[in-house]
Amino acid sequence: VAGPDPPAPHDQDRLLGGLLSPAFDEQSCRSRYESFLYRRPSPFRPSTYLVERLRRYEARHKRCGPGAPLFNEAVEHLRSGRNAARSGCQYVVWTPINGLGNRMLSLASTFLYALLTNRVLLAHAPPEFDGLFCEPFPGSSWTLPANFPITDFAGIFTMGSPTSYKNMRQAGAVSGGDHSNVTADTLPAYVFLDLIQSYTDAAFCEADQRVLAKFNWMVVKSDVYFAAMFFLMPAYERELARLFPEKEAVFHHLARYLFHPSNDVWGIVRRYYGAYLARADERVGLQVRVFPEMPVPFENMYGQILRCSEQEGLLPKVALHRDGAANNNHSSAMASGRSRNHKLTSILVTSLFPDYYERIRGMYYANPTETGEYVEVHQPSHEREQRTEARGHNQRALAEMYLLSFCDRIVTTAVSTFGYIAHGLAAVRPLVLLRPPSPEAGVDPACVRSKTVEPCLQAPPRRMCGVAEGTDIGALVPYAQHCEDEHKGLKLF
Ligand code: GDP
Repeated sequence: VAGPDPPAPHDQDRLLGGLLSPAFDEQSCRSRYESFLYRRPSPFRPSTYLVERLRRYEARHKRCGPGAPLFNEAVEHLRSGRNAARSGCQYVVWTPINGLGNRMLSLASTFLYALLTNRVLLAHAPPEFDGLFCEPFPGSSWTLPANFPITDFAGIFTMGSPTSYKNMRQAGAVSGGDHSNVTADTLPAYVFLDLIQSYTDAAFCEADQRVLAKFNWMVVKSDVYFAAMFFLMPAYERELARLFPEKEAVFHHLARYLFHPSNDVWGIVRRYYGAYLARADERVGLQVRVFPEMPVPFENMYGQILRCSEQEGLLPKVALHRDGAANNNHSSAMASGRSRNHKLTSILVTSLFPDYYERIRGMYYANPTETGEYVEVHQPSHEREQRTEARGHNQRALAEMYLLSFCDRIVTTAVSTFGYIAHGLAAVRPLVLLRPPSPEAGVDPACVRSKTVEPCLQAPPRRMCGVAEGTDIGALVPYAQHCEDEHKGLKLF
């Protein structure tokens, strides 16, 4: 039977096994179809069901998204202040909080939520978020239009907001024992789902989900990878098993589908890669995050990096000789071209501070490596402090997450969401520099290999519905465990 030609192998790579739609103009977003050239092939393939659901999602987004008549209708309902009993489309509006890594985790989670509940994902993009990513859905936009009736996101969506689902439930506005008795047209026009750090308790009972399903408009604010929670809910189990037969690749696929650096950011990535990383035989990414609330002194952190390197055979060893004689022999062998090992390792350091890069580079500058191989050390920027409100700063942060994700081996700092994004995109199981109990304390081992490329949900709900009090949330399903870097956290593998 004559059917459409199977896609050429090249297209399979370029479209990441069908994850990406071919329907975009390449020039408007060069990273979308070029990223694969910079990475080793992913060990994970998207399921055909995920691919099918993504194409269906894209059709829905086009039908319901900004500019479409159904969108205008839904916005009119929103303006009226009352939820409509029936609506052609339902929406989930994501609003950002905290750093870029946190934002990407919660945005990917919100997209998964939209997939599971047949909603349309829209992003409230404040100026500093603008210009980071390309549009992810063909023929439409995910950005809220300028005339959207809700504008004061910072003012309305706070912990105490009466629009918050948790507060509504507490005030009895949506409850009364069996939540499912509430009729849709008695509800307010939108509901706010507050899933910030410790407030992730709000919504993961099936009764809650039944009420939430009645709201045509929902606003989500979160700084965590709450996607992991859906894997603990029996209601989504079958669907998630079909979407993600490999649980370890949930964020990997979501992130490679959604997050395409804008041409400006991609320009930084391409130039930097071409100038400093392209020639290397091996690229090692080292992400050193020093948190303001855990100010580990430089010497401690540097010592920890060296111990981790020693323990895991990470950085090429330098030949340190007391008398220098062996060094000289070695150098003359190199000068006369007798060295047989011409391997080049590039170490990419990302950090807000220049000190780690300088110390490591200095070590390779002053000493030969044991094998005679060459080592380059690079750090793209040292911004000194987090400035989430500044667009250029965020663009550089995104570029660095991408550059890290092109590395063959990745070392991250415990509990840093910046690091989670890099290894999730890369599909590399990172070495994680563990967090000391206090800034000055030692930590042993210095680092551990993560069992998964998935990010950690750092703040899961304290208890789950339908599960006895005190039950260990890390033992509920075979594919979720506590995280290496945050014991109370949860991750899929
Ligand atoms: P987390 O705080 O480590 O979980 O990561 P986030 O990404 O949520 O917030 C940290 C923010 O600090 C980043 O988004 C950047 O704005 C900035 N930042 C931290 N580390 C780096 C780095 O290595 N390079 C750059 N350019 N920015 C960084």
